[in-house]
Amino acid sequence: MSDARLEGGDDLVLPFAVEALDVRGRAVRLGASIDQLLARHAYPDAVARVVGEACALTVLLGSSLKFEGRFQLQTKSDGPIDMLVVDFDAPDRVRAYARFDAERLAEASANPRTGELLGTGILAMTIDQGADFSRYQGVVALEGQGFEEAAHQYFRQSEQIPTRVRLAVAEEFSEGRRSYRAGGLLVQFLPTSPERARQADLDPGDAPEGHVSYSPGEDDSWVEAKALVETVEDHELVDPGVSSERLLYRLFHERGVRVFDGHSVREECHCSRERIIAMMRNFSADDRNHMIGENGRVGVTCEFCSQVYDLDPAELEAEIAGERPS
Ligand SMILES: [Zn+2]
Repeated sequence: MSDARLEGGDDLVLPFAVEALDVRGRAVRLGASIDQLLARHAYPDAVARVVGEACALTVLLGSSLKFEGRFQLQTKSDGPIDMLVVDFDAPDRVRAYARFDAERLAEASANPRTGELLGTGILAMTIDQGADFSRYQGVVALEGQGFEEAAHQYFRQSEQIPTRVRLAVAEEFSEGRRSYRAGGLLVQFLPTSPERARQADLDPGDAPEGHVSYSPGEDDSWVEAKALVETVEDHELVDPGVSSERLLYRLFHERGVRVFDGHSVREECHCSRERIIAMMRNFSADDRNHMIGENGRVGVTCEFCSQVYDLDPAELEAEIAGERPS
């Protein structure tokens, strides 16, 4: 068996640097993790693809968290998928869910673009590193663009780091079963010399009229790196036969690419009976009373993992009141 850490196999984030271009980044490959996550929800294919892309992006961005903490990507928009939430809990856990309108989804085109399914609204990315750090949130307007373009906007606005992101999702059929894979690549221009950093202080507003996509001050290294990223095809991001390391080598070998140790990623929800009870405190006793079903129990289903919590109303009230369960 090959060493997944060296090869950049499935369910792994591989950080890398191309020092000659002042470029750093991460590549991610999601296999069993994204397949299990999507299988829990049994979404229609079009929704599964959007969730897969969102997960690849969230893992790419969240895996930069150095401490314990959470990176959350959330959309609220007016398209057939009107809400989507992906949580990445450092160091390695991902979970997600989407809300969609099946009728409107059926009316969408045959192979709808992500932007078409999201529609108009907002994409919020929140970094929460616990009580000792302030919470950070960046918001990007969704106006029909997909996650790649939204991520570019996010880095332009919030962090002012020239960034390119590629995302892809693939569906496979084998032995009568459908499965999913997802992959992504994040490349950022992070100049190490102050001189270069000054030159690269890009502001799209500085571009002369008619030169919207080209800034005259843009660094040659970044122009080169971006051009290389443009050559990445979707299948290269998801093909189990093309490891992340091989892809990085193909892109950057002429400049010398250093690939660092990978971090594994797994699909896991962290809901628990305790967390569900803590969440129930946010409702009034009257509201909780209305949640009692015909069977005399309170049933709560976790939207992320579909785990059902079956609670006894009297025990629930006692725990909320701070009494020990009997
Ligand atoms: Zn859960």
